[in-house]
Amino acid sequence: MKKFEYGMAKNLAGAFEFLKESEAKIKAGGIDLLDLMKEGLESPTRLVNIRTVPELSFIKKDEKGNLHIGATTTLAEIAAHSEIQTRYRALAQAAKAVATPQIRNVATVGGNLCQRPRCWYFRSADFNCLRNGGDHCLADEGENKYHAIFGNQDGCVVVHPSGTAVALMALDAKLVIARKKESREIHIADFWVTPEDDVTRENILKHDEILTEIILPATEKSTTSYYFKQKEKQSFDWPIADVAVVLEMNGKKCTASKIVLGSAAPVPWRIEKAEQVLKDKQISVTLARQAAAAAMVDANPLSQNAYKVPVFSAVIYRTICWAAGIDPFAA
Ligand SMILES: Cc1cc2nc3c(=O)[nH]c(=O)nc-3n(C[C@H](O)[C@H](O)[C@H](O)COP(=O)(O)OP(=O)(O)OC[C@H]3O[C@@H](n4cnc5c(N)ncnc54)[C@H](O)[C@@H]3O)c2cc1C
Repeated sequence: MKKFEYGMAKNLAGAFEFLKESEAKIKAGGIDLLDLMKEGLESPTRLVNIRTVPELSFIKKDEKGNLHIGATTTLAEIAAHSEIQTRYRALAQAAKAVATPQIRNVATVGGNLCQRPRCWYFRSADFNCLRNGGDHCLADEGENKYHAIFGNQDGCVVVHPSGTAVALMALDAKLVIARKKESREIHIADFWVTPEDDVTRENILKHDEILTEIILPATEKSTTSYYFKQKEKQSFDWPIADVAVVLEMNGKKCTASKIVLGSAAPVPWRIEKAEQVLKDKQISVTLARQAAAAAMVDANPLSQNAYKVPVFSAVIYRTICWAAGIDPFAA
């Protein structure tokens, strides 16, 4: 690891001051960043610790009922928050499903959204992959068992790694991005950068910008959500398929829904074809299976990951059922 300066920001203004250095990098929990530095894939000359900025760690409700979550709130705090567990269940489930208790106690939600992909070619300094400045994607024709089945035709076939991103997309979250004294609010769907737009980055953040908070819209009692992560092994593991479902219900009828897939594409992947199947219908196991089939119509598996299509189908239909409060194995 190369030598670097370390700045403990006491407040947001101090963090921006430290970030003036062009090779400075934000450190939140450091779980992802330090891995990348050890591998020599990131070599900042200065690390700016934002875990020490009190105004970035909070969970609070505003007068309109929207929930605001500070960017350095840990995944453990989100998973344990009673209002998130009841009103935004998919987010609490997604945060709880990440890694191990030790990691969740340190990792922040902002860092979770901004973590870099887990592709083994990208993560190793021994490979010159497209995302690291090489001229082609090594996974596309190489080892691609865990890679994308959607959005994989633009050169790079990584999958988006953040579980909380999947839930936050389905829950229609907004993100607040600050730069010095200015800040702007964007819909989370506009945060991501596809390989087609720029293969070297995953989000729109500029070097001197900080993701400061996440805003969840006030929900009606009739809104229900669920997140499920399918792993290859029982103990802690990355997902091979994860899904978040949000349903707006009117009695037994679903009036609108959001279905978002993780570990499926280079960005969190919304499946509108499946949402259409549910619209204005009563959710049943049969309907959930039809929606899952519609979700997979445009899948484009690579040489080693066709198995992901039936796995996603099963995970999507079950998650729809769980969101609706019905037993997926009843029929
Ligand atoms: C064994 C293991 C298993 C894991 N399993 C999962 C899993 O199943 N699901 C999952 O989602 N994740 C998983 N992870 C990843 C882990 O959750 C992330 O690495 C972690 O959430 C990153 O958060 P952090 O606060 O440590 O970020 P850091 O490592 O500090 O930062 C990550 C990146 O985000 C940037 N950054 C951080 N905060 C901000 C901010 N507020 N504004 C702008 N930029 C910022 C940093 O500059 C850096 O580039 C796993 C990790 C390990 C080691």
